[in-house]
Formats: sequence, C-alpha cells, structure tokens
Amino acid sequence: MRLSRYFLPVTRETPADAQIVSHKLMLRAGLIRQTAAGIYAWLPFGYRVLKKIEQIVREEQDRAGAIELLMPTIQSADLWRQSGRYDAYGPEMLRFPDRKGTEMLYGPTNEEMITQIFLGSVKSYRDLPRTLYHIQWKFRDEVRPRFGVMRGREFLMKDAYSFDLDEAGLTGSYEAMFVAYLRTFARLGLQAVPVRAPTGPIGGNLSHEFHILADTGESAVFYDAALEDVSRDELLAADASTIAKLTSLYAMEEEEHAKIETCPVPSDRLHRRRGIEVGHIFAFGTKYSASMGFSVQAADGSQVHPHMGSYGIGVSRLMGAIIEASHDEAGIIWPESVAPYKVGLVNMRADDAACAAASDDIYDKLAAAGVDTLYDDRDERGGAKFATMDLIGLPWQLVVGPRGLEKGVVELKRRATGEREEVSIESALARLAG
Ligand code: ATP
Ligand code: MG
Repeated sequence: MRLSRYFLPVTRETPADAQIVSHKLMLRAGLIRQTAAGIYAWLPFGYRVLKKIEQIVREEQDRAGAIELLMPTIQSADLWRQSGRYDAYGPEMLRFPDRKGTEMLYGPTNEEMITQIFLGSVKSYRDLPRTLYHIQWKFRDEVRPRFGVMRGREFLMKDAYSFDLDEAGLTGSYEAMFVAYLRTFARLGLQAVPVRAPTGPIGGNLSHEFHILADTGESAVFYDAALEDVSRDELLAADASTIAKLTSLYAMEEEEHAKIETCPVPSDRLHRRRGIEVGHIFAFGTKYSASMGFSVQAADGSQVHPHMGSYGIGVSRLMGAIIEASHDEAGIIWPESVAPYKVGLVNMRADDAACAAASDDIYDKLAAAGVDTLYDDRDERGGAKFATMDLIGLPWQLVVGPRGLEKGVVELKRRATGEREEVSIESALARLAG
C-alpha cells in the first residue's frame, strides 16, 4: 500500500481526552475514531489489526473443535424473559421497541439465544457434546465507558458455548477452551495469567479469567511469581498437564484473595499487580438448559438437562491490551502476528529520481514475494517519515536514501529493538521474504 493513497490520519498531538497509553496511541496512529461515547469506527489500519486478532482467535477455537456460526446482534426481550435475565440484567442492556412495539435489545451476550437454537434441533445424547462460537459485536451500556476500546459500549467479543451430557463432559469442554486460550494469547505475543474468578450468584463451580498484567489494568490480581516464568513455547504446547500446573499456582482476584485466611504462597513469591481481563471462561452447568426447558434423551432413555459452559474473549479489548504490553516512547511495537503490515518502506527522498525508482522496484519485489508492505512514498521530510514509522509500529523498516544507494545499500531497522543494519537490497529482500 502506498501511503500517498492510503487513509492513515496520524497526529502528533496527544489527545486530551485519552488517559492511558494504548488509547493515546490508537488515536495518534489513526487506528480508531470515536463516533459517540464508547463507540468507535475502526479506521483502515486499526481494522487490519482487528481482523488479524480475530483470525488468531478463530483458528484456535477451530483447533479446539469449536464450530463457528453467527448469531444476530439484535435479540427479542421475550427470549430473555424465558431465562429470567431480562429484569435482572439492569441498565447495561440497551432496550428498544421495533415499529410494532415489540421489545427488542442489542445483545450483551448470547446464552439464551444459543440455548434456543439447540433446543429446536438437539434431542438426543448422540448430538452431544458440541461447542459453538461466534465473533460478533456486543453492546453494554457501561456506566463509565473509558480507556478507548478497552471499555467500550460497543465491542467485539468471541463467545463460545459448550453443551455436554454430564458434568464430567463439561469439565473436558472447559479444559479444551482453557488450552485454546493459552495458545491464543501466546500467539498474540501476550503473557496472560489465568486467574481463579468468583462465580457469582449463578453458583457455577468453575471459572477463570485471563489477565494481561499492566499498570493500567482495571482489576487487582494476586498471583504466584512462578506464573511469570511459564515460557511461550510451553503455552503453545499446552495440554491438560499445563492447566494442572498453572491452576495449582495460585492466582486470584483481590476480592477472592481477601476471603482466604492463610495464603498458600510464600510472601516473597506473592505478587500483586493490575490486570486487564481479556478472557473469561465459565462452567455453569444446567442454569440455562433448566430455566429454558432444554433437555435431551440420555442413553438410558431418561431426559436430562445438558451441562453448559460459556467462554468469552474481548477481541477489540485485546488491541488495547497488546499496545499496553508492547510500546515505547516513540509509539506502538506490533507483535509480528498482528502487525497491520510487516514492513514499512521509506523513501527518504521522493524528489530524487534514483531513490524513487529504487524504492518502487523494492516495493514491487516485496509485493511479488507476498510481503505486506506500507510504502511511504510521500514528498515529506525524512524526520517526519521516521517518526510516523515508529509511531505506527510495523515490525520492520526499510529505508532507501541517496547516500546508501550510491554504495548499493539500504537500511533495515527492527522496530522492537531499534537495531539498524546496512545491507544490500538483495539481502534485505531475502530477509523480509523469509
Ligand atoms: P469486565 O469485568 O471487564 O466488565 P465482564 O466480566 O463483564 O468484563 P464478560 O461478560 O466476561 O465481561 O465478557 C467476556 C470478555 O469480553 C471480557 O473478558 C472482556 O475481555 C470483554 N469485555 C467485556 N466488557 C467489555 C467492554 N465494555 N469493552 C470491551 N471489552 C469488553
Ligand atoms: Mg468477566
């Protein structure tokens, strides 16, 4: 993509209304634009990242055996009356009538709807277990939308729902999602801590939240320092033994920790930090299947309510969390797995025919090699181009200037470390295409 023809409204000024670094950088780097309180347009650059995050989430759901569908954003109030949650949900739910006066709502989550879908078509134990998921916009009329996409009112969530015949089956489905979450966050370049979560009034037995440790996080978590030493490779290879190890190491939300009398972790290993909740998994058993009258025939002929779990990931919140975890004074540092483009190609002198020709040629060769490249071909000062490249945080910068070209070299810079190297055009291309 040629920057001269792209839509990337970057700004130098720090937006006055943004309090945390990820929000500031998302606005400055032209990723999002607020259109109403807690509601954002995803500008082209931000939308590329969002789709990459979404795709990694999708691949790991698929790998865990979950099946993708798409449920609507708009739901009927009657559906929520069946589970008894319509009145319980409170003012976070956006409610409105349609033209006939039927009460509708913008879905904050989908337990009722997925149960209704199953109820209509699943009759026998032979149709279970199944886990279905979708990646869809949600609306919650948060009392204090803030921190940009971190706590929006409209936000993108992956929510999965599992149906099993019995509790042992549910535990297996829960563990498959646990593993999928560990792999997902590791692939996104994040160190996520699984935290035992309060199960609340629903009274389920198993629930974990996944937190990214960051000073700007909204939750306080206590955890065993040993959790920080779990390697990325170990998370990518996660299985039931990884879950056993991680959950035996203690991590809890502050309110839960307060209920513990004697803490099992020695004080020198007990860390307290702020966390950003990026995922939440929950085994709640028969709450919805029982309240909505959903049962299947078991092998012995009896009718049983399926045991359910639900599993959320904040896809749009993750973008903020990734930036909180990966930036410096100059701007964003995208992990390669979600970077909007892999390479930023900078022509230092757009008014120099030789520089322009060499840059055009490199751009064509990168495109031919399938390397996603953002080409700064604008007629601007070199300094401004460097500042923009650092701000938008592409993993690699390839700089073409007149002095280097005379020697037959270009400069290759790695954004994460700031390392620069002078290399021949051929070896730069070979490195980036690799
Ligand atoms: P929180 O405690 O942050 O309000 P929650 O517990 O209400 O979140 P869940 O119902 O567990 O959220 O939703 C699943 C995931 O969706 C959360 O783990 C989080 O990553 C994301 N999420 C929830 N609310 C928002 C929001 N207002 N903006 C962006 N992401 C959100
Ligand atoms: Mg939660």
